[in-house]
Amino acid sequence: MNTIREKVSYVRGLADGLEIKDDTKEGKVIISILEVLDDIADAIETLDSSQSELDEYVDAIDEDLADVEDEVFGEDECDEDDGFIEIECPNCHETVYLDEDLFDDEDEEIVCPNCHESIHFDSDRLKERFDDDDKGKQNSDVKND
Ligand SMILES: [Zn+2]
Repeated sequence: MNTIREKVSYVRGLADGLEIKDDTKEGKVIISILEVLDDIADAIETLDSSQSELDEYVDAIDEDLADVEDEVFGEDECDEDDGFIEIECPNCHETVYLDEDLFDDEDEEIVCPNCHESIHFDSDRLKERFDDDDKGKQNSDVKND
């Protein structure tokens, strides 16, 4: 696609080909129009490059903000909203949702709603597990050792 500047150059070439000079009234008008078109092309190029810089800057801010949102709202928002914790049952390996209140009491027996087997979890270990899930699996081995 031709840029505005290339199109203006093309029109200027046409005007030169027709030997339009500013020694006639019409020629003065056409030459003036070409000069204004040059100015417009300059202005658009300047706007275009500052727009690109702004785009990059906004993208960078957007990425940073997404990181902050993950950090601030990440797993907590999910847990607080529905009050349930997502767990893969060690017995049937089904993903089940357990009321997070169950984990408040260490002695409470947690039963898988799918296979009805008891699930034994240490609450602290469980919290770590979910923190790790948020950031990637590679950390979980280090922490669980
Ligand atoms: Zn189960």
